[in-house]
Amino acid sequence: MEEKIDLKSMNKEELTAYMLSIGEQKFRASQLYEWIHVRQARSFAEMTNLSKALREKLSAQAYLTCVEMADVQISAIDGTRKYLFALEDGNMVESVLMKYKFGNSVCISSQVGCRMGCKFCASTLDGLERNLTPAEMLDQIYAITLETGERVSHVVIMGSGEPMDNYDNVVKFLGLLTDENGLHISQRDVTVSTCGIVPKIKELAKLRLQINLAISLHAPTDEKRKALMPIANSYTIKELLDAVKEYFAITGRRITFEYSLVRGKNDSAEEAKELIALLKGFPCHVNLIPVNPVEECGMRETSRDGVVSFMQTLEKSGIHATIRREMGRDIDGACGQLRRRHMKADS
Ligand code: SAH
Repeated sequence: MEEKIDLKSMNKEELTAYMLSIGEQKFRASQLYEWIHVRQARSFAEMTNLSKALREKLSAQAYLTCVEMADVQISAIDGTRKYLFALEDGNMVESVLMKYKFGNSVCISSQVGCRMGCKFCASTLDGLERNLTPAEMLDQIYAITLETGERVSHVVIMGSGEPMDNYDNVVKFLGLLTDENGLHISQRDVTVSTCGIVPKIKELAKLRLQINLAISLHAPTDEKRKALMPIANSYTIKELLDAVKEYFAITGRRITFEYSLVRGKNDSAEEAKELIALLKGFPCHVNLIPVNPVEECGMRETSRDGVVSFMQTLEKSGIHATIRREMGRDIDGACGQLRRRHMKADS
């Protein structure tokens, strides 16, 4: 059997070309696109302004990617909702909905698993299973909108997976997400977080998008970074910062550096000073995250006082720093923990 066509991953031009190729008129493509991305229909049957014959033709050749909610945990502390979604092939991914004063922010996964091997992260423990399609990334957001009945205003690609390791699909997803004919989330309200795949950061810069870039730095020297993140063996901090400066020069978007504080590994006063030397004068923001301990990783979090004093040292030197609010601490908070719990329960 021929493979069915993934309509939800198609941009407007591709969908138009497809509809023309099956003998339909251009305005039908606009209707279909609106059903998929604005009304977020989950079946062809809902598309009542398309003829029954067309709906049948579409369902014979094509499909609409729909993730299925397998579990949801709701934080009693702050209402954060953590979702476990089943993909069509039975794989599972996680997404998180956080409610802020400025709106609803969804954190999505970009891959099933991850192959980056960061030493503190649960998502990478079983390696990479596969990339997500643009539609599978989008539908995490659509499914959450359906479940809550509330608009999603902000999207962060900070769930499981390394977005720059699934570059083409992520870029396509960003186009669909921010398209004025679709859900139309403002580029400025979208953040991509990467462990620092330098050539891909440079490629992304050339697209001149107005999205925010977050860099997982986590250490101030190459030696210390290598101990936490294998990607540091491929690119030095200098190469990473040069790429990030290029991103800023082209887009004008201020960069966020993520720094997860791990007790005894990267959290001393000395390391704060090294970080200051590295970032001084660069328009950026440092987001400090007390590491969320994952059983298998054996890393401990920095004490509350340690985190605050690390932040104050940065601030005193004029580096803007905040401590990330720990949303949903009472529900498997760290990336990949909910999926792992399910995998263990199944085995
Ligand atoms: N691959 C992307 C997205 C990963 S998750 C990246 O590396 O940026 C988003 C952030 O959470 C990253 O900064 C990641 O390093 C961090 N992170 C992962 N596991 C963590 C944990 N257990 N505690 C604290 N931060 C963690």
